[in-house]
Amino acid sequence: MRKCIRCGAEMEENYTFTGGGGNVIRRKGSSGKAVYPKAAVCPKCGEVSIYVDEEQLKKLMD
Ligand SMILES: [Zn+2]
Repeated sequence: MRKCIRCGAEMEENYTFTGGGGNVIRRKGSSGKAVYPKAAVCPKCGEVSIYVDEEQLKKLMD
């Protein structure tokens, strides 16, 4: 569970980026692995938090 950094409310997770196949983040370096980050939205204040889920994080840091 993610908590909003602004107001402390519980955020809604697992939002995905759409359009153009979604945004990719890539680890530094030419052979850097790429993953698709997700977003969480705070239903109270609208804060958006971008994160990499556990499964993708493993892939990225492997
Ligand atoms: Zn909030």
